[in-house]
Amino acid sequence: MATPSSRSTQSAIRNPPFGIPQVRSDIARMEEYTPVQPFEVLSQRLGRAPDAIVKLDANENPYGPSPRVAEALSRFPWFHIYPDPQQGALRDAISGYVGVPAGHILPGHGADELLDYLCRLYLMPGGNESSRDAIVNCPPTFGMYSFDAKLSGGVVIDVPRKEDFSLDVAAIEAAVLGADPAPKLLFLTSPNNPDGSLVPLSTLRRLLDLPVVVVVDEAYVEFASGDVSVAQWVPQTPNLIVLRTFSKWAGLAGLRLGYGIFPLDIIQHLWKFKQPYNVNVAATVAGLASLEDAPLLRQRIASLVAERERLQRELAKFSFLRPLPSQANFVLCESLCVPARQVQRALADQGVLVRYYDKPGLRNFIRVSAGRPADTDALLQALGSLGIE
Ligand SMILES: *Cc1c(COP(=O)(O)O)cnc(C)c1O
Repeated sequence: MATPSSRSTQSAIRNPPFGIPQVRSDIARMEEYTPVQPFEVLSQRLGRAPDAIVKLDANENPYGPSPRVAEALSRFPWFHIYPDPQQGALRDAISGYVGVPAGHILPGHGADELLDYLCRLYLMPGGNESSRDAIVNCPPTFGMYSFDAKLSGGVVIDVPRKEDFSLDVAAIEAAVLGADPAPKLLFLTSPNNPDGSLVPLSTLRRLLDLPVVVVVDEAYVEFASGDVSVAQWVPQTPNLIVLRTFSKWAGLAGLRLGYGIFPLDIIQHLWKFKQPYNVNVAATVAGLASLEDAPLLRQRIASLVAERERLQRELAKFSFLRPLPSQANFVLCESLCVPARQVQRALADQGVLVRYYDKPGLRNFIRVSAGRPADTDALLQALGSLGIE
């Protein structure tokens, strides 16, 4: 690749005779984020065409979006016009899907954007260590809660899950009631990432009695069996927020579309500071087309759930793997006598990508996303060929 000649670059740099303002000291001290490799780059590195890679590492939906999404996008005539800042049509459609009035619903550029908004809404930057606003986080779980809280200048109070990944309810209660100042937000994930367990409704009722705003992240709820969503509790529960996404069940991870269901007293403040055009028109059109094609997407969810069950049965047949039960579109699996990293690498060499973990509370695990039947076949074949007894 051609690089600009260093001489011309150097002569263009001006050294001003005054000091340049520094970035926020807390951000200057932050570690750099390890980005996920773009799929094309990865495909080059592995020396495999993208469709020869079995990608089971990010809980993406291998079926992709509904075919109606591409159709609707190709017909859409107004890409040059700014989106509706109020997202009226999309909020109405989501309202029909979740059964909660549209006034409670705010779409976002992925659920991730709404997590950032919530941290900024509740955590006041500044103050000294003992008076900073805090969140309660229950690891092992999705990393964005603590990431966003710290970015907003908040303190993260970790209340680790028990060994079976269930919540330590008494410890959460003690953390909320015992901390001074009291934490503002409690983040719960149901089904949880990375293990796929649900928060029992009775546990949630108990935690909602605490003086804290409870954020239930239901990114994977479409893959759970039974009526386990608490979205419909929100209008009657002033301290409950539910987050959802189109990334997993509807296959729109690359288009970025999520939404939150908020009590009216909370959503009114989000309207004041959200970016006016936070959801672009492509994501909006795709979201609407997905909701119109919900029956097809539900069939695909059923296939992914069947494949998750098959993964659980088949992975258990390998003596070095211990898969956990899951209500999401992935299976967490303990690697018993082989380092998880080694399993992950050996699979990647065969073009099968899974995620591995090796950290406190998550020592030696791999997480495998449920894919199409052929994806499972490829994974099982690759595992079989590792020659691990
Ligand atoms: C994938 C995931 C999200 C991210 O959703 P986006 O809408 O893609 O931002 C949120 N929460 C959890 C637990 C997830 O695993």
